[in-house]
Amino acid sequence: MIIHLKKNITKEEAKKIAEKTESVMFKRNDFFVLIASSKITTIPEMFSNKIDDFFPMDTDMQLSSKKYLSSTREIKINDILIGGNSNNTLLITGPCSIENMDQIKQCAKLLEELKLTTLRAGCYKPRTSPYSFQGLGLKGLKMLAEIRKEYGFNIISEVRDASHVDEVIEYVDIIQIGAKAMYDHGILKACGKQQKPVLLKRGFGSNLKEFVQAAEFILSGGNENVMLCERGIRTFENQTRFTLDLCGVSYIKEYTNLPIILDTSHAMGYSYGVPDLTRACVAMGIDGLLIESHPCPKEAKSDATQQLEFEEFKKMYNSLKPIAKAIGKSII
Ligand code: PEP
Ligand code: MN
Repeated sequence: MIIHLKKNITKEEAKKIAEKTESVMFKRNDFFVLIASSKITTIPEMFSNKIDDFFPMDTDMQLSSKKYLSSTREIKINDILIGGNSNNTLLITGPCSIENMDQIKQCAKLLEELKLTTLRAGCYKPRTSPYSFQGLGLKGLKMLAEIRKEYGFNIISEVRDASHVDEVIEYVDIIQIGAKAMYDHGILKACGKQQKPVLLKRGFGSNLKEFVQAAEFILSGGNENVMLCERGIRTFENQTRFTLDLCGVSYIKEYTNLPIILDTSHAMGYSYGVPDLTRACVAMGIDGLLIESHPCPKEAKSDATQQLEFEEFKKMYNSLKPIAKAIGKSII
């Protein structure tokens, strides 16, 4: 159950009510929001005069539910809006990993040419093998900060573990929580304690309920700027890297109030399939895309097979615009 306390309720009082109702609590603007287990359906009589509104919920997908907020949340990323009434489909692109200044400058020029707004690049890479390139870490974040200063893009980069969450938060405009980190409660809780938008990727072995409940950790921590990212799940199929769960995307659109971003690069794993898949995703009516691109994919230090070379990217981008237009959206 979600409870909105009256505006005059102090933090001390709110804490007492939270304790009695075994709720998680955060402050939204000028009132406290309490979230108790969905098993609780009535409010103890003694608190009834302290409560402004309450919402009994039938599952623990609570703050993220359309039963609580009936339309998609609007997320503000500096001067860009997604979700809400915005009709924007945010096209995020850039390399899997930042490798050096020359590479990221070439990527920045591509975004500038296409008037795109949001650059991605991993600095702390969650690799499957300890012997693969692990990313440039803080050095990479500092390079991205230089690019942001020069070009004014929003920057998204991922956190790999709880030890450098604060560092990443300081340098980016959107924090990415990777598929392997979806269950990391240290990261989820740290991201809940601050207000920068978070892009939470679906763990490739997790179902939709687990995915949305991971988002609840961030929302209930007090950061309501959460976007979900479908990036493919593991199935019996191994000819493609993962399987993009578009049925799951429909579920998320129908039942949750969180914007949904589609990552076709990691789902497919091979660049040949990325443009077709991306067109299909745009046609579904989604809030954003995350597509890896690289000046020379063959030489990329991570995810070499799936990144789009710039000409391929531009061709795909031009084909997305009319599809978006046909469903009343625009690619930004
Ligand atoms: C990435 O975005 O480069 C990445 C590592 O993605 P994922 O966490 O989805 O594997
Ligand atoms: Mn990658």
